[in-house]
Amino acid sequence: MNPLHLLCPLSPFIARQEPFSCEHCQAEVKPLEKGSYRNHCPYCLFSKHVDLEGPGDRKSPCGGLMRPASLDQSGKKGWVIIHECTICGKKINNKAAQDDQIDKFDSELI
Ligand SMILES: [Zn+2]
Ligand SMILES: [Zn+2]
Repeated sequence: MNPLHLLCPLSPFIARQEPFSCEHCQAEVKPLEKGSYRNHCPYCLFSKHVDLEGPGDRKSPCGGLMRPASLDQSGKKGWVIIHECTICGKKINNKAAQDDQIDKFDSELI
């Protein structure tokens, strides 16, 4: 057995589950209970540009608000929100969470 295996460090990409208040609609957003990492507001779908390379790394220096630019429904995975940063224009695809209020948006955005 490779002894390094025993020292295997925890993944650097640990998603933090903390409540946050949405900077767009001021809603208090609670973390998801089961596993998935919530990175956007379920009410207005806005996100924040904090991740640089992976979900939860929080290495981006930008910090801009990210608006839901469009929605995609991709088969079994359900809704995917394409966020666009209002400051730098970067686009990031995010899987929608179960309690996201997608219904309010799909007619406007698609
Ligand atoms: Zn919001
Ligand atoms: Zn940005």
